[in-house]
Amino acid sequence: MDAFQINGLNLWYGGNQHALKDVCIDVPAHEVTALIGPSGCGKSTFLRTLNRMQDLIEGVRIEGEILFRGENIYAPKTDVNELRKRVGMVFQKANPFPMSIYDNIAYGPRIHGVRARRDLDDIVERSLRAAALWDEVKDRLSKNALGLSGGQQQRLCIARALAVEPEVLLLDESTSALDPISTEQIENLVGTLKARYTVVMVTHNMQQAVRVSDNAAFFLLGELVEFDRTDALFNHPKDQRTLDYVSGRFG
Ligand code: ADP
Repeated sequence: MDAFQINGLNLWYGGNQHALKDVCIDVPAHEVTALIGPSGCGKSTFLRTLNRMQDLIEGVRIEGEILFRGENIYAPKTDVNELRKRVGMVFQKANPFPMSIYDNIAYGPRIHGVRARRDLDDIVERSLRAAALWDEVKDRLSKNALGLSGGQQQRLCIARALAVEPEVLLLDESTSALDPISTEQIENLVGTLKARYTVVMVTHNMQQAVRVSDNAAFFLLGELVEFDRTDALFNHPKDQRTLDYVSGRFG
């Protein structure tokens, strides 16, 4: 079953910069799909079309079709807030709100109408457990989230995204600012998340893609060059450009 089916997706930034060129890809549900490729090749741009984050940038023009669970997310009737609840996103740099750990997690559910303290307590615990952070913070939930380490902050942001019960989690280079231990914690976490969520992650780190993803999509200059099971893409690439990239001939 596919979470997303994308057909003929083109995106131009203002000034007519063609950042995505005719991208066609089906993203399987309940698997981890990694978007790989050199810097500036459209990976983040593509990721951000999946929950319409690109709507926030002026002058962006999009053509083509993105179906999420069979529905065109660019249809006029789409409720974008609802879409972003179902398709959550975690950014490169952890961005906790300047409030308590508890309130960071409860923020989204409160906006969506959860009021009872007991319900919020449950959501906070469940989300922090799912993000493998509960044991480290359970005794200081009322402390400011900005006091956490970088790796903890990033897991907090994952917990915050999970708190509204999304179906998909988009991770945009979520470990690139982290030390190796925090990176490993997040990689392990991603492996556990796919039981419940579809994960799409941008990484410029090929080894990370090999370690954590089931599928890999190789982007180059706005084009999706190749998409396959991760082991096949790395071990038996079909396109010469993929082979050159995964064997380190450019990057
Ligand atoms: P990647 O994630 O592979 O590093 P990006 O998707 O960030 O690549 O960028 C793809 C291209 O689009 C680059 O040429 C980049 O300069 C351009 N780009 C990205 N964001 C913007 C923006 N907000 N405005 C204009 N151009 C952008």
